[in-house]
Amino acid sequence: MKRNTWQREAVRGALDSTGGFISAQALHASLHATGSPIGLATVYRALADLAGQGEADSLQSPDGESLYRACSSDGHHHHLICRNCGLTVEISATEVETWAKSVAAEHGFTQAAHVVDVFGLCASCSALLAAGAASA
Ligand SMILES: [Zn+2]
Ligand SMILES: [Zn+2]
Ligand SMILES: [Zn+2]
Repeated sequence: MKRNTWQREAVRGALDSTGGFISAQALHASLHATGSPIGLATVYRALADLAGQGEADSLQSPDGESLYRACSSDGHHHHLICRNCGLTVEISATEVETWAKSVAAEHGFTQAAHVVDVFGLCASCSALLAAGAASA
């Protein structure tokens, strides 16, 4: 019997309606905005739970914040993430897979796994930035 089912479902629902990666704090704030009484600690736990069961992807932002997302691909994949608006593109990186396997094998490592996520500015944020720079 799970006590936290509704909280978990609320967190999953909020995550589903978010396009990109989001922090526990931001997700908590958006749940609160919709009138949910859920606590921040519960949001943290639910997110860790979903990530642990493979129902959400988690990663560290360049500033060391944990971010979560309900991903559409089940399998191993990588992300391109806009650090301004959070837009996320799921990408495959065949070169990385090959490189990771061969570099692990070179050092006698087996069962190698890796996490590769690329942070940058998406096309529209880049355009906005360029427009802002031009008008300044
Ligand atoms: Zn993903
Ligand atoms: Zn962007
Ligand atoms: Zn990979």
